[in-house]
Amino acid sequence: MESNVFIALGSNQGDRELALLRAVAEVGKLAQTRITALSGFYDTEPVGLVAQPTFLNAVMRVETSLSPRQLLAELQKIETGVFRRVRDVPQGPRPMDLDILLYGDLVLEEEGLVIPHPRLHERRFVLVPLAEIAPAVIHPRLGVRVDELLRSLPSGERVTRI
Ligand code: AMP
Repeated sequence: MESNVFIALGSNQGDRELALLRAVAEVGKLAQTRITALSGFYDTEPVGLVAQPTFLNAVMRVETSLSPRQLLAELQKIETGVFRRVRDVPQGPRPMDLDILLYGDLVLEEEGLVIPHPRLHERRFVLVPLAEIAPAVIHPRLGVRVDELLRSLPSGERVTRI
C-alpha cells in the first residue's frame, strides 16, 4: 500500500541550495517512491544553543510503499553516503538533514523512530514549508491542521522564502 509521506530537508554547510536539489534527486531515485510535491526553499535562523550558519529548509511529499523503517534507513544512507555527514556536534552544522515528519496517519513511538516527528509542531522552519504544500493535513497525534499549528506558534526565528 502506498502512503503519503512528508520529509523535511535541511542544510547549513557548503552550497545549501545545490545540496537540497541533490537530496530531492536522491529521494526521487529510491525504489517504490515518487515525489509528488516540493515546497519552496527557506532561509532560516538556526534554533538551539550551537552558534552556526543559517539553514536552507524545505519539505517534500512522496508516495512510497517503503515501510517507515526502510525509508529512514534510505534517508540515513543519503545523509552519510551522498553528503558524507558525520554526526559530531549534536544539533550542530550539517550538509544534509532528512527527517520523516508525517507518514500518512501513522502514529509510531519506537526506539530511534518517532512519527509524527516529535518537534514538528514547535518548529517554524518545518511548519512554514509544510503549510505551503499541506495546510489542511491533520497532525494525527494532535488532531490539528498544519496551518493551525503554524498560526498558534509564538513568533520566533526568522524564516524567509528565497
Ligand atoms: P538528527 O541528528 O536530527 O538527524 O537525528 C537523527 C536521529 O533521530 C536518528 O537516530 C533517528 O533514528 C532519530 N529519529 C527519530 N524519529 C525520526 C524521524 N521521524 N525522522 C528521522 N529521524 C528520526
